[in-house]
Amino acid sequence: MSNSNILGYAAKAIGQSLEPFTYESPKLGEHDVRVDVTHCGFCHTDIHAIDDYYGITTYPFVPGHEIVGYVSEVGREACELKKGDRVGIGWQGRSCMKCEWCLKGEEQLCYDIVDSGTWVPYGGFSSSVVVDSRFAYQLPEAISSELAAVLMCAGVTVFSPLRRYAAESLKIGVIGVGGLGHLAIQFAHALGYDVTAISSSHEKKDQALAFGADSFIDLNDKTQLRQAEYGFDLLLCTANSKLNWERLMTILKKNARLVLVGFPDVSFNSTDLVAHQLSIAGSFLGNRATMREMLQFAQKHNIKPMIELMPMTRVNEAIQRVRQNKARYRIVLVNGTVGVDI
Ligand SMILES: [Zn+2]
Ligand SMILES: [Zn+2]
Repeated sequence: MSNSNILGYAAKAIGQSLEPFTYESPKLGEHDVRVDVTHCGFCHTDIHAIDDYYGITTYPFVPGHEIVGYVSEVGREACELKKGDRVGIGWQGRSCMKCEWCLKGEEQLCYDIVDSGTWVPYGGFSSSVVVDSRFAYQLPEAISSELAAVLMCAGVTVFSPLRRYAAESLKIGVIGVGGLGHLAIQFAHALGYDVTAISSSHEKKDQALAFGADSFIDLNDKTQLRQAEYGFDLLLCTANSKLNWERLMTILKKNARLVLVGFPDVSFNSTDLVAHQLSIAGSFLGNRATMREMLQFAQKHNIKPMIELMPMTRVNEAIQRVRQNKARYRIVLVNGTVGVDI
């Protein structure tokens, strides 16, 4: 593929199906690398962005931010990477590197975050992407490319709050057993916590236990919820759907914390929040140090996303499966032949 001629898949307008889209390659900045994409995971955030849920999407929009590929071109200052290196890239493809948060090493909080997305100008459902080399991570050899792809967004998104908030927590509940949740269960288990999977899909119980959950709560079962009252030090909510928040608050211990990593609609009763001294927090991606730590941890503890592989050419079918909540648990799109690490 010529570097000046990139083939991607783009939504031309809000909510539309993706179409093949040829665009001129962005020029490499001093710190940039070009990465030829072999694999790209499909995150729920891609759908939100296609639908302009966040109000920041510009069209034509090429989604994709769980990328694995090989470095094919290196900017003058991108000295830590060389041509041929296998790297992973997550949602964040750059940052200003000079605001207070970047200087503190919390790049995911950069004031320029809207322009820091890997999909600016075009994302990973593409033959190649250009990102700042400081956000392209060398991958441990033992992690295959299709599994590493999912760790780059879903993995770090759940690992980061589990490391940050759960240090003194003993009992953790993971709400939602999907793309994020099935990884959160694995990471929480490997970190040594007592982990309960909480879902309204009772049929996911066996799988949740196989991922490492110590127990399972069916959200539709009021008796189970009553038995779990004041049970959890931390609830990590990976769901995007509407939930019965007041009921969920009853299973938090006093002084405990609910952390959101998805984007569900929320409404809370302030009485329980105040009287039980509960905290509600958001957690966004992870910084670069956490990303590197997460990759090493995933290798050491054999964290394995469960994926479906599909060729990039079937991207619209993948979108339908994600929209219908049918992906088990993550779809990874492959450029070239499925299953071959090109
Ligand atoms: Zn994502
Ligand atoms: Zn910044």
